[in-house]
Amino acid sequence: MGQAERRCARDLAAAPGGSVAVRGWVTAVQRKRDRVALTVRDHTGEVRCVSQDPAVLAALEPATPHSGVSLVGEVRPGRGEGVQLEIERVESMLPAADPLPLKGNSAAADRLDYRYFDLRDPERFAIFKIFSAVETAIRGYLAEQGFISIHAPRITGGGSESGAAVFQLPYFGETACLVQSIQFYAQMAIGAGFDRVFDIGPVFRAENSLTNRHATEFTCLHVEFAWMHSHEDLMALEEALIRHVLNEVADQHGEEIEELFGLRVNPFEAPIPRIPFARAIELVADDDEPRAQLTARDERALSKYVHAELGHDFVFVTDFPAEERPFYTMAADGEGADGLSETRSFDLLWRGVEITSGCQREHRSERLYDQARADLGDAALDQYLGKYYLDMFNYGCPPHGGFGIGLDRFLMLLLGQPSLQETSFVFRGPERFTP
Ligand code: ATP
Repeated sequence: MGQAERRCARDLAAAPGGSVAVRGWVTAVQRKRDRVALTVRDHTGEVRCVSQDPAVLAALEPATPHSGVSLVGEVRPGRGEGVQLEIERVESMLPAADPLPLKGNSAAADRLDYRYFDLRDPERFAIFKIFSAVETAIRGYLAEQGFISIHAPRITGGGSESGAAVFQLPYFGETACLVQSIQFYAQMAIGAGFDRVFDIGPVFRAENSLTNRHATEFTCLHVEFAWMHSHEDLMALEEALIRHVLNEVADQHGEEIEELFGLRVNPFEAPIPRIPFARAIELVADDDEPRAQLTARDERALSKYVHAELGHDFVFVTDFPAEERPFYTMAADGEGADGLSETRSFDLLWRGVEITSGCQREHRSERLYDQARADLGDAALDQYLGKYYLDMFNYGCPPHGGFGIGLDRFLMLLLGQPSLQETSFVFRGPERFTP
């Protein structure tokens, strides 16, 4: 007997008559003496499958919720407007062991231990369908804008001297590290004349942060482009990119998101407000202490203010003081508040959480060396950094800049999820590196 053609649950109504195979997992079983009705779910939806054939009833004897099945039959009108499968034969019966590894109310740690089972939940699976749609929308938009996708290495010799916040690994008698960001490689592409590049992939942070928005490995979109004038160009690109992504997600998954997560995806029309750091501090600081960065509390307070006063869920905070920004950040002209020089930098906040940091990079060799020396000391310049990074700026590197978006975090905010444990396919945190 040949293999019947597979039909997914979503497409079944389009196949009345003829023999087709339905393949998936049983979610419910009803048995009467002379009949059986199974609800079978695949990655597209659910379908009712029925039979009164004694041979089919016998073959489906072991079927319990979560058993895998492949059932061949005829598509017939079902209850209401739907269709159902009249089972003619059982192609595969893959029984689920008893007891099941998880129950409906299992603790989060157990859910992560049995992630393969946890993700059979349609709501959890939907997160990754939508994640995939977000990634496709990003790739599509950036390709249209002339960006090419690169794949930077994740193992690096840089950073191994400091050991701070990097995972080190033995590397054939030497010590290598996992990258915290692929920015230096994206800049290398700029130095090589690629002009506009992006990379989507994992990055690693050895930070012992037990918050809902930190993971030790997460998926980052990194965007870098050349011949720009200031960080305004970066924000304009990111704003258009996010608008495009939200429009695509709303078109493709808006109804599903409303149904499963009770949320409306609201693509925005109005421009994202830009608030200079010094002004942001005036708006939210609860003391007079001078500071060079926003705390998590400041970010929440600022987003609340922007939502109430300006009606936007997003806000760009711009022009951070140099003090807390990395040495490669381009300084703005003049001195900033509190005597700290400002930089051509920004963060993007969404619903009170930072999702992006970006800046124009310093590309003028002399200034870059000065900033690196001031920040890291002379010794650093003689090592990896000097040879493999700074040297590139001696050969006509164009003005450029870039930004990174943590995509697991983006999805957490998009779908109102409580933590990255839900939006990372398999979460990695300080207390979790299995399975
Ligand atoms: P935070 O202040 O939230 O720790 P950061 O300033 O260290 O973030 P960047 O190094 O600028 O973040 O990284 C760029 C983006 O990557 C962040 O805006 C965020 O979306 C994401 N990101 C950073 N660290 C993490 C992490 N540990 N887990 C998940 N996403 C992260």
